[in-house]
Amino acid sequence: MRLPVYLDYNATTPVDSRVLEAMLPWFSEHFGNAASRTHLYGWTAEEAVATARKQVAKLLKTNLKEVVFTSGATEANNLAIKGVFEKYSYKGKHIVTVATEHKAVLDTCHHCEQLGGEVTYLRPDTNGLITPQQVAEALRSDTILVSVMYANNEIGVIQPIREIAAATHAGGALFHTDATQAAGKLPIDMAEEGIDLLSLSAHKFYGPKGVGALAVRQGVELTAQLDGGGHERGRRSGTLNVPGIVGLGKACELAQKEMNAEAERLCRLRDRLEQEILANVPHTFVNGKASQRLAHLTNICFEHIDGENLLLSLKDIAVSTGSACTSASVLPSYVLKILGLTDDQAYASLRFSLGRFTTEEEIECTIQHVIETVERMRVGSAV
Ligand SMILES: *Cc1c(COP(=O)(O)O)cnc(C)c1O
Repeated sequence: MRLPVYLDYNATTPVDSRVLEAMLPWFSEHFGNAASRTHLYGWTAEEAVATARKQVAKLLKTNLKEVVFTSGATEANNLAIKGVFEKYSYKGKHIVTVATEHKAVLDTCHHCEQLGGEVTYLRPDTNGLITPQQVAEALRSDTILVSVMYANNEIGVIQPIREIAAATHAGGALFHTDATQAAGKLPIDMAEEGIDLLSLSAHKFYGPKGVGALAVRQGVELTAQLDGGGHERGRRSGTLNVPGIVGLGKACELAQKEMNAEAERLCRLRDRLEQEILANVPHTFVNGKASQRLAHLTNICFEHIDGENLLLSLKDIAVSTGSACTSASVLPSYVLKILGLTDDQAYASLRFSLGRFTTEEEIECTIQHVIETVERMRVGSAV
């Protein structure tokens, strides 16, 4: 059986063979605990972690003291939001975020509400964008944190982060961004963009699953969410996942070198895929077609088609409707609903996300497959 063409890189990516190679010695040959300060085994592991920390810091153009390793972006978002909420609750309990954030941000904000916090959920325009003015207007004297994702996982829209961070700071609050879909894909400069806290995850850019980081600007304090041995300068206790961290570091190094060429190549393929589908399949439109969006992704609505049937019929390609995290339930994507789509339109929207190993041939096959499948389904239902 031939495997379907993988076009779900926003859900997860395969580990790059160069990343895997860098990780392998750290499982059994160099197995030391990075917190063991009394012997060579520990020092060797600690050194590997230090190298990875430099690689992450370099990708984000930040100081290496500011990188806290976590189990992924979900944990990084929890640490950022709950950590600031607890630490700065003496100043205020108000948080500003956006209704189209990932669940790892939204549910963490709900948790803060249960603890007496107040959260403002900004509504983006029909392309998924929010404005710095919206943020400025939402700020109050008791606002401690603004959290706005860098690039959206479902539609790829890129928020005006620099301007939003400036508006946040003008109001005296801290700025956090969930950059899980932007890290390793877009050039990021934490200091210049005014980002206080940034979450990322290795498995979204060719590193392993179960490892990520929260970058924290120097001077920003956090209440730890895990109590224990005081690892990561007291910010995240727990024995470090050395192979995973080495893999994350290597993924950062590769991304930094290759992201520009990769984005250019994927943008060409994405544009071809999108244009061919729009030109050859009637009743289609792109969700979130803002001028600023990720180069490797398109989210297309196929109107007057049963979404579930569409996904089942497209058996030669692996794509998603909504985000993987909400697809356990059969609810339509809340992100697409907020952009103004009906339930039917949201169900009939597909996210195609390309990546490092996507080939031109795969895109050609996908175009043909989508055109033929939708035609067949539309004839069947006479629309
Ligand atoms: C994947 C993703 C997450 C969750 O990351 P994990 O490392 O899998 O926990 C959070 N936010 C965004 C935007 C994502 O795409």
